[in-house]
Order: sequence, then C-alpha cells, then structure tokens
Amino acid sequence: MLNILFTASECTPFIKTGGLADVIGSLPAALQNEQHCNINVILPFYEDIKLNQSETDLVSSFNVPVGWRNQEASLYKLCHNNITYYFIKNSYYFGRKGTYGYFDDGERFVFFSRAVIESLPFLSFTPDIIHSHDWQTGLIPAFVKILQPIAGVKSVFTIHNIQYQGIMPANMFNELLNIGSEHMFGMEWDGLLNCMKAGIYHADLLTTVSPSYAKEIQYSYYGEGLDPLLREHHEKLYGVVNGIDTSEFNPKTDTNLHKNYYHSSEDKKENKKALQKEANLPVSSETPVIGIISRLVEQKGLSLVTCMLDEILQEDVQLIILGTGDGSIEDTLLEAAHKHKEQIVFYNFFNEALARRIYAGADFFLMPSRFEPCGLGQLIALQYETAPIVRETGGLRDTVVPFNEYTKEGNGFSFTNFNAHDMFNATQYALNIYRTPELWDNILNNIYASSTSWHQSAKKYLSMYEEL
Ligand code: ADP
Repeated sequence: MLNILFTASECTPFIKTGGLADVIGSLPAALQNEQHCNINVILPFYEDIKLNQSETDLVSSFNVPVGWRNQEASLYKLCHNNITYYFIKNSYYFGRKGTYGYFDDGERFVFFSRAVIESLPFLSFTPDIIHSHDWQTGLIPAFVKILQPIAGVKSVFTIHNIQYQGIMPANMFNELLNIGSEHMFGMEWDGLLNCMKAGIYHADLLTTVSPSYAKEIQYSYYGEGLDPLLREHHEKLYGVVNGIDTSEFNPKTDTNLHKNYYHSSEDKKENKKALQKEANLPVSSETPVIGIISRLVEQKGLSLVTCMLDEILQEDVQLIILGTGDGSIEDTLLEAAHKHKEQIVFYNFFNEALARRIYAGADFFLMPSRFEPCGLGQLIALQYETAPIVRETGGLRDTVVPFNEYTKEGNGFSFTNFNAHDMFNATQYALNIYRTPELWDNILNNIYASSTSWHQSAKKYLSMYEEL
C-alpha cells in the first residue's frame, strides 16, 4: 500500500486563502477513494486554526534547527473524515493572525519545511512519497535529497502558482538552512535564495495544476523568470488539472443556499432572486447576473472589467463581486459600486457562505485572468450550473469549452487575448445566447454534463506515484 505525506501551507476546512486550500482539502480523500492508499497531511498550526482539543493528540515535541536558532516544534494529530492531519505548532512563527504577509514569511516556512523533515520519526507511518505544494514547502524536496531522512523516500512537488516563489536574500542560506554551501546551487536563482527553485530542482517528479499551464510556464510570458529552469526540467514536469470536492460543493445539498437544486433552471432562479434581494439589487429573474469571486490581484484580470465597466453597464445586467486584495483594485470597485448602486454590488471581504450563494444565484461567472494555473472558481461555477466566461489561459483553457452555436458544443464562453474589448465581446455574446432560450438550453445541458470531480485526475496522480 502506498503511504503518502502531503504538505502545504493551507487546507480546508482548517485554513483557506485560495484554491490551494481547496485542493489540499479534497485531493487526499479523492486519492483514497480511488485506490487503497494512505494519505496523511501535515500543516502549520496557525493561531487561526481552531481545533477541538478533545479530538487532537499531542504526538511529540522536538527541536528544529533554523540556522543558529533551535526552535521547538510540537506535533499534533487529528483524524477528520478518514484522513489523518498533523499540525506543527510553534508560537513564535505561527502564533499570529492569518497566514501570510509577514516580513519573515521566508524564515517561517524554512522552519516549517525543516520541521516536517524532523517530524518524520514521530509519524504513525513511514511515507514512500512526500508530496509538497508551492513555495512554502519548496525546500522539502531539497531536504529530502540532501538529508535523506528516510531511505528511498521520493518527493513530488506541485506548482500551484509560479508567481509566488519564496525569494530571500542569498545570505539567508547560511542564516537559516544548516546545510553545506555546495547545496546553494540547487536553491539559488538570480543571486537570491528561491524556495520554488529548490522544489523544481530537487523533486523527483514535478507537477502543475493543468496541462496548459505546464506548457505556458516554460515560456517567458508566464514563467515569472523561472522558465529556463522549467525548460531544463521539462522531462519530469506534468500537468494534472484540479478537481473539486463535488459532495462539498453541491447545489443539491449545500445548506448555504436559499433553495437546493439540481439540473433545474427554475429552482436556480429562486436563488438568483434571493441573491438580488440580499444584495439590494432590483429583483428581476430576466436580468442576467454576472458573479465574480476572486482574490483582487493583477493576475485575475479585474482591470479588464474596470476598463469596460461603462460599456458593460449599458447592458441590462447586474454585477456581484466578492473579493479582497490590492487596495487600488478594491478602491476602484468600491467607487464603481457606489456610483452604480442599481447594477453593481461589491462585497469587500472573505465569506465562504456568501460565495456559495453567488455561485448559485449568478447566471454567469466571470474570470478574465491574465494567467490561471488551474482556477477553481470556474469549476465551482460549473458545478452550480453557472456559465463561466473566461480568458483562454492555463486551466481555464483546459476546463471551459467555448460555446459554438452551430455545433452546440461548449460549456461556457471565452476569449483569447488579454484585451478588454475581447472580454467585452465575449460577454456580449454570452448575454445574447442567454436571451435566446433554445441556445441557452444547449449550454445548460453541456454544463450539466461537465466533469468537475477529482475522479480522472486522482487516477493520474496515483499512476505517477506508482511509477515513482
Ligand atoms: P486562487 O487560488 O488563485 O485564489 P482559485 O480560483 O484557484 O484562485 O481559487 C479561489 C478559491 O477561493 C475559490 O474557492 C473561491 O471561491 C475562493 N474565494 C476567493 N475569494 C473569496 C472571497 N472573498 N470569499 C470567499 N471565497 C473566496
């Protein structure tokens, strides 16, 4: 039986800032459902993670070298929905609000990565493979290769977003890492210590979250400076598209919704009306509602929307946006919502329950990303029978098929270039199809038939593990 240790910086239902948490929270169960295997997950014990004391066991405490410092780590264990979770506690590094954004994030995740290695003797199983995710755990494949904590253990590293690399000044190598200077080469990029490089360079197998993104990041437009390294390692790089937990994201059972539904545009409309009411918008089942749920960062392409706002609002359409992020994007959206109260609502916070009501109540889900490794928003939208309008990049290209009114194929709408007019044209086309009931029925049927679960992708991961 395969024993796998997953390690990442966020995971639902414990802590979430974005799609990484959804993936780490759902892929282990999907793997275990597919095949008899044992997947455990190890996470930082952030202050914001509230665990039920009676269900959590303290396994052990041990020291973790971080340069000249010796930091204590306490290892906790919790069984939840058939998966064993381990948490590494250290109040200096993780006894803080939230997850990221501290001046010493680099040091915090060097500590976490090293603590994962030091925790291995205390786990109740011996991993065959350690599967780490994104820069926060990028040093783990390096430690596995260099320190060889378990004979024969292999490492897999998954890139969820190459934009965030965990870059630190080069002197942090000596300050924090406790390994010989000959290993700097495998972790250094452009004269800096780079955790993402460490993962790419040292992992036995490298994956990213869609086949298109796996190709794109080998080019300079998408590679965020690491494209030469990825071209060098392309033989071990695979793209596997993400899925979602379809029992968790399920309009048939989701208790956050006004009315549960399944393959019924009539019942879905009830959610739309309730959402319009909740948002203080005019209640009208004919007026198309476009939802956006997103981190508000440049990557997500909101600038295309704000550029074309006047044109979009000429249409009989309502826009409901939920997101937090860069102050300048937030300010632009706050101002637009203030100016157009009848058509735009902007919720500037993070709220899972409201997100579900928007996925369910909207007719369209707009995701005009400049780049998108996989994207879960469009998958959740499809699952809630909402038509995605996306830019053809990364996982958006791999999961949304543009509607073709002649062949009647397609489960959404898309545009190719990162261009505001192209996005507007795709949106106008989508609105026209919406107003043509026979064609709209075609698209709804294609949405109902779309696959958003982990089933196929879990099989791909398992065959890669087996091969390793
Ligand atoms: P990324 O991981 O780049 O942020 P994804 O589309 O892969 O983008 O995943 C985003 C996830 O975070 C989705 O589950 C989305 O619904 C959720 N999300 C983003 N912003 C918010 C918010 N303000 N409130 C609730 N959920 C949000």
